[in-house]
Amino acid sequence: IANRQKLNYLRFESHMESDISTRAKLLSELRNAIHQQSIFIEIQPKINLHSGSITGFEALARWELNNERIPPDTFILLAETSGLITKLDLLVAEKVAQAIQKMTKAGVSYPIAINASAPDLLHNDYRHKLFEILDEYHINPNQIELEITETKAMRDYHVIAPQLRSMIEMGMKVSLDDFGTGYSSLAYITDLAATGLKIDRSFIQKLTQSEADEKVVDMILHLGRFFDLDVIAEGIETPEQAERLKQMNCPSGQGYLFARPMSVDSAIQWVKLHNK
Ligand code: C2E
Ligand code: CA
Ligand code: CA
Ligand code: CA
Repeated sequence: IANRQKLNYLRFESHMESDISTRAKLLSELRNAIHQQSIFIEIQPKINLHSGSITGFEALARWELNNERIPPDTFILLAETSGLITKLDLLVAEKVAQAIQKMTKAGVSYPIAINASAPDLLHNDYRHKLFEILDEYHINPNQIELEITETKAMRDYHVIAPQLRSMIEMGMKVSLDDFGTGYSSLAYITDLAATGLKIDRSFIQKLTQSEADEKVVDMILHLGRFFDLDVIAEGIETPEQAERLKQMNCPSGQGYLFARPMSVDSAIQWVKLHNK
């Protein structure tokens, strides 16, 4: 028994060790990827549910390591917990600026949303560098939307709210991502001066089967109308979900039903086909 315990213990230890060294390896690879600017973006369209027209895109960070894609949930968390996230998000912002230029040249001009993590908004650096990038690429801030996820760190209103307000004053839009989950509080709408809400995918996926989820969606839509916010439903996968949302007067939507996130070149082609 003692031997077996020892064996288990050893196994446990080596398993832990490999986890730690995997994280360390991945982290150093991520640092390299950011440094070499090899993190790239895919963009996914946002659709007006009533007219079917494109209202904009969301940029999502992508990372390929040894020809394999690392899931964003994995590397974003790694970046957030290692102090790399602001560098990563600014790199994404620069890729978005390049994408806007490229699309404008191709005759398809839309605003593109970028995701910002809480640490970005706790320092002035992010905002200053973001505006530097927009300046450098001659991009009007009203072409950029910020999607922010409510986390514990967002409770630092007195730091975050003035930052968001100054970005909004410059013409940027700010949406609360994954709305309805996590640390949602109505104070985010009033104190953080958000201009939009993204209804979390989890509610949309159960929308046509669960009355409770339908009520939550309906409540968020009312909230949006009440506060004059742009509301978008994310993660729409079926025509039934889109139809139900349309009946509920949800202004816009995003999801695999319309298009998966794609390269900027594919998006240009996709827009041309869509607008035909
Ligand atoms: P998010 O901001 O909520 O982005 C939406 C996620 O849902 C994306 O996952 C997107 O690919 C996926 N999605 C879109 N439509 C559908 C659908 O119809 N069905 C399903 N099942 N999924 C759909 P992705 O690209 O894996 O990104 C995951 C999360 O990683 C994002 O969630 C966001 O929180 C974070 N993230 C991605 N890029 C960035 C970035 O550049 N900066 C920061 N800070 N976070 C990022
Ligand atoms: Ca988002
Ligand atoms: Ca979301
Ligand atoms: Ca999310």
